[in-house]
Amino acid sequence: MAAENKFNVGVAVIGRGPAGMAVALGCVKAGIDVRVFERYPYARPAGNILNLWPTALHALKCMGVKTEDLGARSSPTTFRNTKGHVRATVRLADDIVEKYDGGFIGLLRPDLYNRMLSTIPEGVMMFNQTVKSLEDTGDGVRITLGDGSVIKAAVVIGADGIDSFVRAHLWGPSPRRNHDLHVIGGFTFDIADGVIPGECVLTHDAQVQGTYGPLMSQGRKGLQWWFVEAWPDSKPVESSLKDRAQMLSKRFSGPLSELVRSTAADDVVMWPIRDRVPLKKWSKGRISLAGDAAHATSPYAAYGAGMSISDGYFIAQSLYNVNLADTNAVRAALERYEGYQLEHTTQMVQSAYYVGQLFHHVPFPLNYIRNFILDWTNMLQRQVGDKNPGEITEQLQRMGDNIIK
Ligand SMILES: Cc1cc2nc3c(=O)[nH]c(=O)nc-3n(C[C@H](O)[C@H](O)[C@H](O)COP(=O)(O)OP(=O)(O)OC[C@H]3O[C@@H](n4cnc5c(N)ncnc54)[C@H](O)[C@@H]3O)c2cc1C
Repeated sequence: MAAENKFNVGVAVIGRGPAGMAVALGCVKAGIDVRVFERYPYARPAGNILNLWPTALHALKCMGVKTEDLGARSSPTTFRNTKGHVRATVRLADDIVEKYDGGFIGLLRPDLYNRMLSTIPEGVMMFNQTVKSLEDTGDGVRITLGDGSVIKAAVVIGADGIDSFVRAHLWGPSPRRNHDLHVIGGFTFDIADGVIPGECVLTHDAQVQGTYGPLMSQGRKGLQWWFVEAWPDSKPVESSLKDRAQMLSKRFSGPLSELVRSTAADDVVMWPIRDRVPLKKWSKGRISLAGDAAHATSPYAAYGAGMSISDGYFIAQSLYNVNLADTNAVRAALERYEGYQLEHTTQMVQSAYYVGQLFHHVPFPLNYIRNFILDWTNMLQRQVGDKNPGEITEQLQRMGDNIIK
């Protein structure tokens, strides 16, 4: 009897966000039996605008997802002050920009979800299935679903988001970091005057970031925009989101006001920014974590979904050809996955957290000193222009060219 036959499923994934879908895609590619259990009846994304780095694009390609025309090339991407002075330019090597459809791309979340979902074979996604509890029995994991039924899996991956119950089950409660920041963002297909094609411009005044950049959706070129501002986590926004965005846009010269004006009110969304202090370990026995459950991050990295997609790639790569009945082999495979992703994601989470604090929570009058340093030294260039893209490029090289190598 094949060892896997004592399990109802090889790899059980909890959650169908980018992380869960990527684990499913990776396992399918590596020939591993996989099911995704999702509590909601659908796979609709929360939010709208998104950017992806080349690691995610590479992982998607390797897992069989078409990335051509998924988004618009965002190049050059620059950080500026309100006078237009460039404080940092995000630098990716030309060959990466060419090979990965622009290297850093702007898109709409539903397009990513649809491409991933349409590549996952029928029968893998199980909707309306809330996972209630887990028990690692050593030779497998017992999963209890909301309807009381029990499934036995060889491996469980918690891809259940920032408030992950799998994370709490493995590692106990860990406080959420509320950044006291929020993002208000939207998109439009009316291209404003004065926008250079491809250009993504992140401008910071003393308190607020105002950004616009390209996006593409189903062949249509458009622009995304967003504002980040200091905002107490529990405080509601009293005006309409579009009114608030219009008010914020007046702080910036350039096309932002026009872009907000031409955006439909329903296409304006607000998210509070939160993350968690990174864990020192993700996996225990036959259970591990992926995506925000493992490394929730601030959107300052523009990399949470990207890291989630890479997790799926590395999990499948690490489990490829492993005898899932062999507990030690499974444990070693999950350690291998952590070896690829834990340090990299920890650095990116911490960098995104501190950059957010630097831009929005430095008290008066220290913010004048901050601005002087950002304008006249290469500190920002070193961190967001060179170091972060450099680490992403190194991660890309670690991935190799094939999921089953
Ligand atoms: C404002 C903002 C902007 C962002 N911009 C970017 C960007 O430009 N680029 C980028 O790469 N990332 C970005 N991110 C981050 C990105 O959105 C997240 O990192 C990513 O969505 C995390 O995916 P996930 O699959 O880990 O979790 P989620 O998408 O949260 O999915 C978790 C899933 O688990 C399900 N679930 C939970 N509990 C259970 C249970 N018990 N049983 C069954 N199912 C369960 C949930 O219903 C959900 O479907 C941004 C985030 C924010 C807030």
